[in-house]
Formats: sequence, C-alpha cells, structure tokens
Amino acid sequence: MVEALPAQGVPADQVLAELRGLRAADRPTHGGRLFAYVYDPAVPGLDELARSAHALSAHVNGLDPTAFPSLLAMENALVGAASALLGGGPGTTAPDVVGSVTSGGTESLILAVKTARDARPEITAPRLVAPASAHAAFAKAAHYLGLVLDLVPVSPVTLRPDPVDIAAAITADTVLVACSAPSYAHGVIDPVAEIAQVAVAAGVRCHVDACFGGWVLPFLRRLGEPVPPFDFTLAGVTSISVDLHKYAYAPKGVSVLLHRDPALRAPQYFSYADWPGYTMINPVISSTRSGGPIAAAYATLRHLGQAGYLELTRTTLTAVRELADAVRAVDGLRLMSEPQATVVCFTSDDSGLDLFVLADELTVRGWHTQPQMAYADLPASIHLTVTPSVAASVAEFGPDLTAAVAAARALGPVRLPEELLVAAATLTPEQLTADLVAALAVDLGMGGKPGADDAPPVPDRMAEVNTLLNTAPPPLREKLLLEFLSLLQQPTY
Ligand SMILES: *Cc1c(COP(=O)(O)O)cnc(C)c1O
Repeated sequence: MVEALPAQGVPADQVLAELRGLRAADRPTHGGRLFAYVYDPAVPGLDELARSAHALSAHVNGLDPTAFPSLLAMENALVGAASALLGGGPGTTAPDVVGSVTSGGTESLILAVKTARDARPEITAPRLVAPASAHAAFAKAAHYLGLVLDLVPVSPVTLRPDPVDIAAAITADTVLVACSAPSYAHGVIDPVAEIAQVAVAAGVRCHVDACFGGWVLPFLRRLGEPVPPFDFTLAGVTSISVDLHKYAYAPKGVSVLLHRDPALRAPQYFSYADWPGYTMINPVISSTRSGGPIAAAYATLRHLGQAGYLELTRTTLTAVRELADAVRAVDGLRLMSEPQATVVCFTSDDSGLDLFVLADELTVRGWHTQPQMAYADLPASIHLTVTPSVAASVAEFGPDLTAAVAAARALGPVRLPEELLVAAATLTPEQLTADLVAALAVDLGMGGKPGADDAPPVPDRMAEVNTLLNTAPPPLREKLLLEFLSLLQQPTY
C-alpha cells in the first residue's frame, strides 16, 4: 500500500491511476454477478448523473439547513417521495408523516429504537421485541442504546414469526416492536398487519424495517404481485425505514426514516446549548454530513421517476423467477421460501452436496453469492439479492448452477481436521486469543501473505473457513471474525 500522506504531493492523474489499481481487487459492482452488497439497475448514464450530483454537493454540510437550504429542500423531497410510496401524505390515512434522511439502514434503525426508548423515559430497563429474522442492526441498536432485545423465533417452514408469540413477548417494559418487509436473509415479509395490531393493543410503537424492500414492494404491487399491506395504511405502524442506497439505486450513504407524525418523531432529535460553541441541533446521528449522497439520491429518483422504477422492478421480477426456476431444476437444492420480493435463497437437502463448496464453485464461474450460516433450526443457505443488472445474463445462471453442483458433488463435503472442529464447537470466546486467531488465519490462507502488500485478505475458496464458522456457536463466530477484522485493520506506513 502506498502512503496516504507522502512528503511531496502526487499529481492528480497518478493518484487516480493508483485508486483504479486498488479498485481492481474489489468484487465487480456492475454486471449482475454479485448477489449482495450492490444494487445495480444497469441504466445507461445513471452512474454519471449520480456522480455529478454527488460532486456538486459533496462539500455542502447538512449540519445547518439554514446555511444550506439546498440540502433541506432535497431531504424534504426525498422524505415526501418515500412517504407517498409507503402510504403516507396528503389524501391518505397518514397525512402527517415526517421523516429524516440518514446515512443508511443501520442508522435509521438505531434512530427508530432511540426514538421509541426516549419516548418512554419512565421505563428504566427498556426492551425491544423483534423476530429472530430481523436485521442484526436491531441487535446493534439495542447494544448501543442499552435495551434488552427479546427475539421471537421464526417458523422453519414459513420463516416468519407467529404474531401470538410477538404478543406474548411484549412486557410492560417493551418500548418497540419491530418486523421486516421483507427480511434480508430470506426475503420474506413478516405478518405486519397482525404484528401492528398486537402492538396497538399493547400500546407500543411498531417499526417496519423496509430498508430492503420499501422501494421495491410498492412497484411489485403495481405490477400485480400479491404484496400484503406493510406500510402506513396499517394504523399500528408508527415508523418505517427504507434505504435509498438499495432499491432506489442511489450511491451508498442514504436511507430514510419515517414517523407517522411529528409527535412520534420528536424524541429522535438531539439539541444541546450548554457549551460555548453553536447550539447543536441534530435530527440524526451525524452532525456534519456531506450533501453528496443526498444530492445523488435526489438526482437518481428524479431521473428514473415512478415509470423508471416500475420498469426496473419488472426486469428484476423476471430475473427472480428465472433464478428460482434454476434452483428448482436442481436435485438436492431447495428454495428456503417461494420468492416474495427480490431475494432468492436456497439450501441443500443432500448431505453429498456441500453448500459452501457450491458457493465456491459458483465463484469460480463468476457468480458471487452470499453464504449464510445455519441458525437455530434453520439450515445454512445461499442468499441472492437480485437487481435489474442480473437479467442480462440470468440465462447463464442455470447451466452454471448445474455445473457448479456437479463439481461440488465431485469434490464432496469439506473435511476439516477433527481437532479444529472440536475446538470450534467447544472453545469459549474468552479462550480465543488474538494470537490464536492470527495462527488460524495463516493456516486457512486468510489475511494475505505476510509481506505481500496486495494479497487479498481472503482466499478464493472459502468453504473451509465457512465450515469452521458454521460449526462455531454465534458468540465464538463473533469473536473469531472480530479478531480477524482487527488483524486486517492495521495502519500502514
Ligand atoms: C440492509 C438492511 C439493513 C441495514 O442497512 P445498512 O444500510 O447496511 O446499514 C437493515 N435492515 C434490512 C432489512 C436490510 O436489508
């Protein structure tokens, strides 16, 4: 790695060439072969538009909307658009919806939890009820904000929680009930109407995490898909999050958190005057905020329009169906759920077909999927987030999947040394020291080769690592990956 702060500055074109060199090691963000992390509509000219808009506002500071009214105007427009898509605004049963633009889904969820907590200051040990399938960001929010997270199991068949169990989990200390539309892992929509009703009956707020699906479900419905109600049309829903950097196709760093009315939003704000500087009034977690992501999102929405999103959703739906058909056609693979939104998730029913080996074989063929570990009574699975860019080459997926499955069967399941598996199953997180993880990482080919600057941090084949992680109970898996990350995050000089 080159130094970030050389003694003498480097010419601009050389700096850009260096950046391009670094980017070459990354997974492809375009081309429809990366089924996680990126959301690519494959619309010609859209990247250039978003980039120009981003550049125009990159130095504008969201700290003070009176100094930079351009950001206030764009944020209000984004919140209005999200509200209108999700059952709020003039002429609806939720005419008073308000909201904020945040940096991402996690920030939206942390703020939803904080707002619910601070609305009930009399509760000294606040609790959050969520299905086990809820996004990990709720656990992070509970951890940061000092709430107890009460997880309600999901059925291994429907992958949804039973509203009766949600009701039973609510106590006098519960400040918020959460659910997903849809869940990230499996792409299934929780029974939001029933959950919202249960929350109303208990006098508790209800947040719908539509970070993933909030911008695509309304368009799927317009295409005639059977999308159940999940938004402000349900009286008990008090807040909704929707990520613009997912299915609104904005560049990273922008999400919207909506509340049904200003009174519900009020505890979200933070203000502080008791210091010698400016009175700080923050609607969100960051104080200084770049206008770049907001302007890029605004430009993206304006350029695509509702007609554009509808067409992109049609294209995505075609790709989802073809991917699901490809999975159904393979003996030994099973869809975790019929696709309800834009996720295709499948597992292996056949002990001779190792899912993690299959994921590697798909990588070899240029398809980057997201393996998910076994959890409670749910098996390990492979997750595909589907976006319009997949459609162009989706016809190649079926044959490649068939070939990858044949190759994975031929290789057979991963066999790790017995002592390693025993260690993974029995070590306590406390026993797992940084040194132990460093030695393990070398054994497994992780962390790059010592001395080689540009070695990738993970090997091409991840089946052994994934098998080890899958064997480790969640607390040990957390510690393993945390120590590994800390190994990777070292200053370079
Ligand atoms: C992506 C996602 C989040 C977290 O969003 P980030 O933008 O990654 O912080 C939360 N919930 C769901 C359902 C998601 O898909």
